[in-house]
Parts: sequence; C-alpha cells; structure tokens
Amino acid sequence: MQPARRVAGHAARKRFGQHFLADRSVVAAIVAAVDPRPGQTLVEIGPGLAALTGELLERVPDLHAVEIDRDLAARLRRRWGPERLALHEADALRFDFGALAPAAQGRHRLRVVGNLPYNVSSPLLVRLLAHRASIDDQHFMLQKEVVDRIVARPGSSDYGRLSVLLQACYEVESLFVVPPQAFDPPPRVDSAVVRMIVRRDLADDNPEPLQRVLAAGFAQRRKMIRGTLLPWLAQQGVDCAGLDPEARAEELDVATWLALARRLAQADAGRVSAGAR
Ligand code: SAM
Repeated sequence: MQPARRVAGHAARKRFGQHFLADRSVVAAIVAAVDPRPGQTLVEIGPGLAALTGELLERVPDLHAVEIDRDLAARLRRRWGPERLALHEADALRFDFGALAPAAQGRHRLRVVGNLPYNVSSPLLVRLLAHRASIDDQHFMLQKEVVDRIVARPGSSDYGRLSVLLQACYEVESLFVVPPQAFDPPPRVDSAVVRMIVRRDLADDNPEPLQRVLAAGFAQRRKMIRGTLLPWLAQQGVDCAGLDPEARAEELDVATWLALARRLAQADAGRVSAGAR
C-alpha cells in the first residue's frame, strides 16, 4: 500500500476524500463567486487545511465550519479562536444545519460553502435539501460529472433524478471547471463549482413525493412512460391527464415532475383522510 501523501504536515486521508486546494487563483475565484459580506452567516463544510477558510475570514469576521477529521479540527482550533471560527467537529451527513440559523424565519439564513468530499457529495446534497428553509444559497466544488448532472436539461444524457430533484428546489448554475492539478493530492477527475440558490417559492415543500415519483419514473428512463410511470401513477390514484404516453422520463421537464409530485401528495392526503373516517 502506498503511504498517505503528506500535505503541510498532514497525512491526507482517502476515506475523507481529502484533496486540498493548492491553486490560490481557484480559491480566489470561489470566494469571488460567493462574495461573502459581514453580517451574513457562512458555513463551510470540510475546511480541511483552511485554503478557503482563510480567504473567507479575510472577508467576514466569523464563520461556522463542519469538519469530520479530528486532527484537522485540532489544527483549525489552534489557528483561530471560537469567536472567529465556530468549529463543529462532526459528520456533515448527520449535522443539524438548521440549528445554526436560529433566526432563520426569513431574515438570517445560512450561506453554505465547501470543496466537498466527493465520496459523500450526493448524499450530502440530499441531506441539505431537508435544511433548505434555513439556507439562502450553496456554492460547492464537486466532481464535474456531478455538476453536469445537477444542471442538465431534459433530453440530455446527464438529465436524471438528481437534476430534477435539485432544480425543483434550487436555481442551479455551473460556474467553472477546475482541473486535477489545482489540488494536492490531485483527484483522478475534473471538478467544477456549482451555485445553488434556494427557490423560496418551494422551500417549504416536502421533497418526499417528488423523490418517490422520480424513483418510479427514472427506473427505466428510456422507455415510454405508458409502460412504466403511467401504470405506477394510476396505482397510486394519481390523475395522469395531460401526459403524453409516448414520452420518456428523460424528456419530462422539472415543472411536469413537480406537478406530478403535487398530485401524488394530494392522492396520499386523500387516502389518509378516507382512512381516518
Ligand atoms: N476545504 C479544503 C480545501 O478546499 O482544501 C478541504 C477540501 S477536501 C476535498 C474535503 C474536506 O472535507 C476534508 O477536510 C475532509 O476531512 C472533510 N470531510 C470529509 N467527509 C466529511 C464529512 N462527512 N463531514 C464533514 N467533513 C468532511
């Protein structure tokens, strides 16, 4: 087994997806895209060796950070006191982001930033969905392939469950691509930075019916929906009027999936109230 690569005296841990940003111009481009302002509540996921953290703290007096690696957390605590860096030594997959925005009722929501560990990025994005009522926006470095899926349009080969689920909840934009050489150690693939702004009109919707209808629809994405999604919807008691039976899941736009999720939620509610009678 190859020994772990040491970066600034730290043995990079593969299991935590540790690829540290080494290119200062990329760090500057991310911070410029975030454009943090004093008075905003910033949360960084996975600060690591603080490439982004240091630059963010040049622009705002304090921020929150969630780091799973005990050694890195100790280094960060030695560098900044809690009045500047509120460090949460925790797994972001289990972290209660909503608890950081006690005044979230409309005025004081979170801005979330991170060069995310690629091995957990999709579950982390889904986890953050549950907290989006407390969040304004997210800027993340991810595997480019994942960013391509997030921003994909109907009909493209990248368009799928993740595209619809996230576009239903956020305005998404791919900002720029980052090559492997920008990191130490370099990952095997290209990365990209994505901006995700929470859609306030839908921030209180429960994403669960949408997740169910997408799971049913995209199980066979290239088949006509008359043999896949339509029978499933009929079984759930959902009115399928207006859907072209010859369409394929990969061709249906986000508004159509959202409308189906709403009809599914109504059908569920109808069943619950009929059961209560
Ligand atoms: N932000 C630093 C940078 O840009 O150089 C480090 C980025 S590195 C790709 C990912 C960071 O996330 C590491 O510091 C890693 O320890 C941390 N991390 C990995 N899994 C995590 C998790 N589940 N919760 C919180 N932090 C995690």
